[in-house]
Amino acid sequence: MRHTGQCRDVDHDVRPDFLPTTSPTVLDAVVVGAGQAGLSTSRHLVRLGVDHVVLDANEQPGGAWQHRWDSLSMADVHGVADLPDAPAPGTSAARANLVVPAWFGDYEARFGLPVLHGVRVDSVTSEHDLLVVRGGAQRWTTRTLVNATGTWTRPFVPHYPGAEAFAACSNGHVSRMLSADTAGTVPACMP
Ligand SMILES: Cc1cc2nc3c(=O)[nH]c(=O)nc-3n(C[C@H](O)[C@H](O)[C@H](O)COP(=O)(O)OP(=O)(O)OC[C@H]3O[C@@H](n4cnc5c(N)ncnc54)[C@H](O)[C@@H]3O)c2cc1C
Repeated sequence: MRHTGQCRDVDHDVRPDFLPTTSPTVLDAVVVGAGQAGLSTSRHLVRLGVDHVVLDANEQPGGAWQHRWDSLSMADVHGVADLPDAPAPGTSAARANLVVPAWFGDYEARFGLPVLHGVRVDSVTSEHDLLVVRGGAQRWTTRTLVNATGTWTRPFVPHYPGAEAFAACSNGHVSRMLSADTAGTVPACMP
C-alpha cells in the first residue's frame, strides 16, 4: 500500500498473508499492545526481519488515543511523538481520537506490521525456555515478549494524604472523563 503522508481511511480487514494467528511455530517475539510503543517496536522488528506478532485488545488501531474524549483536538494535545519513519500529524482543530487512530492504522498497513486487533492477552507463562502467550482460546509460543500495554486501562494511582476526600479524580477516572465529556463539560482531572 502506497503511503501518501496523509491520514486517511484504511481498510483494516486487509491483513498481510503472513499474519500468524495462534502460531503453530515458535515466534522470535510477541509484542503486547499496538500503541506508539508497540508499533515502534514492531516497525523495527520488521526492519530487522524478526518473526513476530503484535497482539492488541482494541478492535481498531489507535491505542489509547481512540478513547480520548471527543473535545480533545490536535491543537489541545501536548505534542504527539513521531513513529519511526512517520512524523506525527500536525496541529489542527480535528479530533485527536480520530486523527491519531487513522495515523496508526495507516502506519500498520504501510509497513505491513503483523498486528492482530481484538486479542486481549490473558496470561504469559514460562514453558521450559519459551513463553506461552494466551488470549482467549488462542495461544502463541515465543522466545521473547515486549510488554507495551500502556497505562490507559491500568493507571498507577499514587497515594496522597486526603485522596479519599478528593472527588474529582479517583480510580475509574477514564470512564469519569468520558462521561464528563458526554455531558458537555471539560474532564476534571488528568492522570
Ligand atoms: C488523559 C491522557 C492524555 C494524554 N495526552 C497526551 C498528549 O497530549 N501527548 C502525548 O504524547 N501523550 C499523551 N498521553 C500519553 C499517551 O497515552 C502516550 O503518549 C501513548 O498513548 C503511550 O503509548 P503506549 O504505546 O505506551 O500505550 P497505549 O497507547 O495505551 O497503547 C497500549 C495498547 O495496549 C493494549 N493492551 C493493554 N493491555 C492489553 C492486553 N492484556 N492484551 C492486549 N492488548 C493490551 C491496549 O488496548 C492499547 O491499544 C496522554 C495520556 C493520558 C492518560
